[in-house]
Amino acid sequence: MAAMTREETEALIQEVLEIYPEKAKKDRAKHLAVNDHELEKSNKCITSNRKSLPGVMTIRGCAYAGSKGVVWGPIKDMIHISHGPVGCGQYSRAGRRNYYIGTTGVNAFVTMNFTSDFQEKDIVFGGDKKLAKCIDEIDQLFPLNKGISIQSECPIGLIGDDIEAVSKAKSKDIGKTVVPVRCEGFRGVSQSLGHHIANDAIRDWVLDKRDGDDSFPTTPYDVAVIGDYNIGGDAWASRTLLEEMGLRVVAQWSGDGTIAEIEKTPKVKLNLIHCYRSMNYIARHMEEKYSIPWIEYNFFGPTKIAESLRKIAAHFDDTIKEGAERVIERYKAEYEAVIAKYKPRLQGKRVMLYIGGLRPRHVIGAYEDLGMEVVGTGYEFGHNDDYDRTIKEIGNATLLYDDVTGYEFEEFVKKVQPDLIGSGIKEKYIFQKMGIPFRQMHSWDYSGPYHGYDGFAIFARDMDMTLNNPCWKQVKAPWKAEAASEPVKAVA
Ligand code: SF4
Repeated sequence: MAAMTREETEALIQEVLEIYPEKAKKDRAKHLAVNDHELEKSNKCITSNRKSLPGVMTIRGCAYAGSKGVVWGPIKDMIHISHGPVGCGQYSRAGRRNYYIGTTGVNAFVTMNFTSDFQEKDIVFGGDKKLAKCIDEIDQLFPLNKGISIQSECPIGLIGDDIEAVSKAKSKDIGKTVVPVRCEGFRGVSQSLGHHIANDAIRDWVLDKRDGDDSFPTTPYDVAVIGDYNIGGDAWASRTLLEEMGLRVVAQWSGDGTIAEIEKTPKVKLNLIHCYRSMNYIARHMEEKYSIPWIEYNFFGPTKIAESLRKIAAHFDDTIKEGAERVIERYKAEYEAVIAKYKPRLQGKRVMLYIGGLRPRHVIGAYEDLGMEVVGTGYEFGHNDDYDRTIKEIGNATLLYDDVTGYEFEEFVKKVQPDLIGSGIKEKYIFQKMGIPFRQMHSWDYSGPYHGYDGFAIFARDMDMTLNNPCWKQVKAPWKAEAASEPVKAVA
């Protein structure tokens, strides 16, 4: 199918909106747009970061998910208590595949679930005493933990427990950092506010711990990797490149990261931000308080990797600039071989994305390196500064959808007929049952890494494996089935 024109995309949006009652139609119309390269600011065409409408099947998560699941959870040597009833922590346990080095249960705790397991009496009489007891038990059972964070679930904010007081008292008792995080699920409109709250808690309870302490030996090449959660080993594949070009990675936020790394971050010379959405707040804070500049980079696919390595190197002297060129040259044969192998199998294939964080725009270059085209993209919990950054990354007249509803996404897919969809687990089986190749692009569908040159080889293989899998020949997409036989009409 040829690329859609602006008029066709506009008509598609109108057609999909048609089914809604007037009020819902008006609201949802603001979240669906046709990309326009002429625009400097996305707020001229799309609205984002607004409350989802009840009943529309949003795919968003909650603030607790943004804090515990994204920002804090991967810090491996801390224990993160899911404070409240058992379900929030248990059903989200280890889902994001944040890889780490360490011995689980001894000095690393990422895949374990710690919960205060609230019962009715805790709701009625308050849970502060239970939380204090919980911290004591944890410190006794896992003495090598380097700190504890308290990730509030909804009931904690509702009953008004004073987790800050408990944290201060317990921090004194056990002699470790204890951080209260007010990330109750009901706050904000999505997981996005949870990221912000988590950043603020790091700022207020951790980041200044080594202010005035110059005992950590620094170098002119110290950087921190911020907003890489090491999903399937992403941060490792990225760190390798930065180190090979001559930089010293002092901290990883937060995939395979430690609390000591976070405390040392204010000593670095440059903060490198991969997931802007979830970590820009702390980067801005460090810029203000410690005068540390920050830049965004993109390590998906060789084109964007080379651009980013050069952009990072521009902040340093010739040693690093030469280092960047050396790295690009060193991996050239490798990534060219990947492209030579997979591009002929993927060329011209059309992709629709619906993801979170940085990916709706960051992975576009990697698909393009393989000759593929992104024909629709959108953010689960993006803000307009994310869409601003997206406008120039995709083709003019490309379909944009913000906090897309289950119904809208299905209808768009039926009409656009992409060859591949990249989205989350909640969408996966719907589209697979429709006969459309699908990659789960939050946790890389149990694969990865996808960052860096090493990751690109895996990314290309996975897209080919999914798209060209012979199983799709056994499943007919509904529009193809309809062409073969008349659809059965519903009986009134
Ligand atoms: S919305 Fe509240 S109850 Fe639901 S998962 Fe989030 S924190 Fe838990």
